[in-house]
Amino acid sequence: MHVFKFGGASVKSAQGVRNVAGIIQAHSPRQLLVVISAMGETTNALEQLTWAYLRRQGDKSQLWEQIRAYHEQIMYELTGSDQEPFRPVYDLLADIEAVLNEEPDASSLPDQVYDRLVSYGELLSTRIVNAYLNHTGLDSYWVDARRLVRTDDTYREGKVDWEQTCEYITDSLAELLENSVVITQGFIGSTEEGHTTTLGRDGSDYTAAIFAHCLQAEGVTIWKDVPGVLNADPKWFDETVKIDQLTYQDAIELAYYGATVIHPKTIKPLQNRTIPLYVRSFLHPQEPGTVIGQFEKHLPIPSFIFKMKQTLISLHPKDFSFIAEENLSRIFGHFAEYGVKINLMQNTAISFSVVVDTQSERLAKLMPLLREEFKITYNADLELITIRHYDEKTIDRVLVNKKLLVEQKSRYTVQLVVKDLG
Ligand code: ASP
Ligand code: MG
Repeated sequence: MHVFKFGGASVKSAQGVRNVAGIIQAHSPRQLLVVISAMGETTNALEQLTWAYLRRQGDKSQLWEQIRAYHEQIMYELTGSDQEPFRPVYDLLADIEAVLNEEPDASSLPDQVYDRLVSYGELLSTRIVNAYLNHTGLDSYWVDARRLVRTDDTYREGKVDWEQTCEYITDSLAELLENSVVITQGFIGSTEEGHTTTLGRDGSDYTAAIFAHCLQAEGVTIWKDVPGVLNADPKWFDETVKIDQLTYQDAIELAYYGATVIHPKTIKPLQNRTIPLYVRSFLHPQEPGTVIGQFEKHLPIPSFIFKMKQTLISLHPKDFSFIAEENLSRIFGHFAEYGVKINLMQNTAISFSVVVDTQSERLAKLMPLLREEFKITYNADLELITIRHYDEKTIDRVLVNKKLLVEQKSRYTVQLVVKDLG
């Protein structure tokens, strides 16, 4: 069997849903598990709705109205006034409304409320696609991923219990998939107690890898709006090259350094079972795209990863002590506790520097804690450029009009922290 994953951009409109249905219909034999994300920007919208519901900011009714109208519009464009096929979607919309009309449960953590509400994005999108497929004559099955993907209770970043998850998945799907198409949600799971969790933003790729791993799939295809894995993000780079073949190792590194094409957690579960991962364009489904797998040869060309909105923080011990192991382990502890991910670090005898995403909310909580023990220097509005398989020429090229603040080189990778000189 094979696993397909469709992201939000592929199902952002009725036309997108029709296109996705066409790609699913064209796949035979019917041994296909399809993982789908929330439509378009729905997850962002549901995030905002959650904060409004918890009375932090925003107008709850207005935000909800937009989300509802958006999904209804797509359903109308798909089947016109015959809305009967979408009855399960309307039931879901009613469920969400019921939640929104309740008072926020005082005993639930905000992150738990977040997962409960935000997960509806995937429930809605998969219900819509499944209903549309059925309407067009393909008898796909809709499966609730929360019943199968078991996580701990780290809300918004659920850790997968692989053993339990694989048991649930194979027990309930292996036979069904011998001759059918199953539609399920990316990004969501649940705890042992049945509380909904999410796997971290953009986690649907990871879900596809979980299902593929457990079911020992022949392959996974991630359908994207780019022709495959490119050597740089076209957003920041004019001359991009599509990579035909990529080793698991190179794919992990590219994802780790911030290439947004695949979620970093996706590769390992596939690599462990040597399941190939195809990255293809849903706009040009006849094109081969990129295949990630076990290959001898590494990337033949330099790849560039740009991360914008970076902050460089340097810590200097106040008491003139050195940056020793105890200091480092405390510092890491604080970063982990506040969920601030370190993109690059460098230490000298008397200072320790990290580069992190400029995420004001989390940093605002972390900084006072660090300030108690360290003198801090701080540099915002930076860019982190990573080049895999670099050479001096490529470094010079990206440094044009930039001020270099930190450079870190290893055999295959160079990382540059720079300030744009405008
Ligand atoms: N819908 C979720 C998100 O936007 C998961 C995903 O798209 O992969 O983060
Ligand atoms: Mg999404």
